[in-house]
Amino acid sequence: MAAVAQPPYTEEQERQFHRDSTAAIAHGAYDDAYALASTRDASDPSATALLARLEVLRGDYEAAENRLRPVASANPISAASLELALLHDYLGRRDEATPRLEVLLDRLQRSREPLDMYRAARAARALGEHRMANSLIRDASLAEPDDPALHTLWGELFGDKYDQLEASGSFADALRLDDRWAPAHLGLAKAMADTDPPAARSAAAAAIELAPGDVGAHLFIAQRDLDDRNHEAARGSLDRALAINEHSLEARSLIAAVAYVEDRLDDFELEVARVLEINPVYGEVFRVAGNLAARNYRFEEAVSLVRRGLEIDPANTRSYAELGMHLLRTGDEPGARVALERSFAEDPYDVVTYNLLGLLDSLDEFETFEMGDLVVRLHRDEAPVLKNYVMSLAQRALVDLSDRYGFEVEGPILVEVFPRHDDFAVRTLGLPGMIGALGACFGKVVTLDSPRARTPGEFNWQSTLWHEMAHVITLQMSNQRVPRWLTEGLSTFEQKRARADWARDQDLGFAT
Ligand SMILES: [Zn+2]
Repeated sequence: MAAVAQPPYTEEQERQFHRDSTAAIAHGAYDDAYALASTRDASDPSATALLARLEVLRGDYEAAENRLRPVASANPISAASLELALLHDYLGRRDEATPRLEVLLDRLQRSREPLDMYRAARAARALGEHRMANSLIRDASLAEPDDPALHTLWGELFGDKYDQLEASGSFADALRLDDRWAPAHLGLAKAMADTDPPAARSAAAAAIELAPGDVGAHLFIAQRDLDDRNHEAARGSLDRALAINEHSLEARSLIAAVAYVEDRLDDFELEVARVLEINPVYGEVFRVAGNLAARNYRFEEAVSLVRRGLEIDPANTRSYAELGMHLLRTGDEPGARVALERSFAEDPYDVVTYNLLGLLDSLDEFETFEMGDLVVRLHRDEAPVLKNYVMSLAQRALVDLSDRYGFEVEGPILVEVFPRHDDFAVRTLGLPGMIGALGACFGKVVTLDSPRARTPGEFNWQSTLWHEMAHVITLQMSNQRVPRWLTEGLSTFEQKRARADWARDQDLGFAT
């Protein structure tokens, strides 16, 4: 089948131009990219797309659009048209982006030319058609196995769908072909973020070393520093990102999130306004702030933030997934189920959402007991044995600790006790495992292993329950702003104070 390269260039020349232009950008060699573009006429779609990409990278979206529009109109199936559609998508102008992407996908997917399949895959990804994108990029890579851009896109597609193992494999393939391919280093960093944080950080540092103008790599480092609560270091990376592109939606969103958790609400609203001026339906700005608020144990605020985002971007499945997790941590299990099911219907690949929905099903086997502010849920097989112990101990802890701290807790306080450790782990973090932890507290929700989840004598669940109830007090008293070391120290102190032989148990305490 005939490819859709524009005359006067041959398919081979188009392919070479694509190789050279993607390499220049991946190597951070922007001067080379300009030089390459200048070898072609201003009306050439591939050269126009390259120049526009350089403008987009530094945030000059208007210039990029003005450059692309006439060339894309004259060449609706071209690199320039794809670049324009992706820009409209980024700016939230889906009415313009979607029809153009659909035409591109429809036409390009019929070609057997690898470059066309690669472009079709990018269009499919922007349309949310990941299965189609994946199949197109697989065919493209088979036909053209030596192009790092193809392997990198393939890795990014796996990453979109949480398959970090396959993603790592594709990024490694790209780096075997060209170890200076910065986007593949960054992709590898993202794929390893949860499993090997130090290696992830080095991979992102390698990306920055090779291509210092890559906003995404600076934001990745900033996010890691925020996870470590090192706001000073994060600020440095965020400043570097803004110096590259002061209109980056991702950079502005993270800056807004930092302002939010630092309780600078005016700055937060100002940043939100800036973001929405660029893209009025960018609900991500609220999802990102909600995510950081939750990492700081402020789950009710996280819920409100994500809901604000869903008002302007109701199709954001990631937001529904995170909303479900936040709601579980506030104790709203019915609300969590609604949000998680909504996410799962559109995005069945998210293993955390899948796990949480399975957990909610197994909670149907639990019985619920209420007393004052306390709601206790126990597995029906354990309820006859544990009910009185758990209710009276939790109640005693609440009364004793509230009295001594002179603080009235805000209920209801939900305590869930799990006979299967993995259910406890999923209820707490969304994933099985977490072998060291026995209990966790989120402010209004306490989770713990039941004696049956552990080898007899391995831990004293009463001691753990008391420790977690002390977290309820100190987290709530500080409006969820107590430093980790302090709430941990107080819980350990209260545990020993309640009974001298209650040694400190391992708990997840104050972590995510
Ligand atoms: Zn603790």
